[in-house]
Amino acid sequence: MTSNLVESQNNVYKGTRGLPITAIVKASYYRLAALFAKRGHEAAARVNSGEPFSENIMTDKSMRREKKGRPPITRIRTEMDDVETERRCGVCRMPGHSRKNCINIRHQ
Ligand SMILES: [Zn+2]
Repeated sequence: MTSNLVESQNNVYKGTRGLPITAIVKASYYRLAALFAKRGHEAAARVNSGEPFSENIMTDKSMRREKKGRPPITRIRTEMDDVETERRCGVCRMPGHSRKNCINIRHQ
C-alpha cells in the first residue's frame, strides 16, 4: 500500500527534479489537480453506469482488513511437529510392546 503511494507520488514528481522548489510545488499542484479531475470523472462514470464501487477493490482479498484475534500461523511444520499417537517401548522404542515385556531385555 505504501509502496503504491510512493510510486504514485514519484509519477507526479517525474521530470521535476533539479527545478527550483517553487516550480516543483507548482508542477505537483497542477499535476495532482489534473489527476484528481481525471479520477473523479472516471468514478462518476462508473457510478452513473450503475457500478457503485471499483471492481478491483471489491475482489482483491488482500486489501481487506485482517480479522481480529490470533494472527494466522506462518510457521513451517517439520517432522519434529508430528505427534506420536502410537505407544512405544521405553527401552527399545519399538511399537507393539512395553518396557515390561520387551524382547530386548533379559527378564528373570
Ligand atoms: Zn522393547
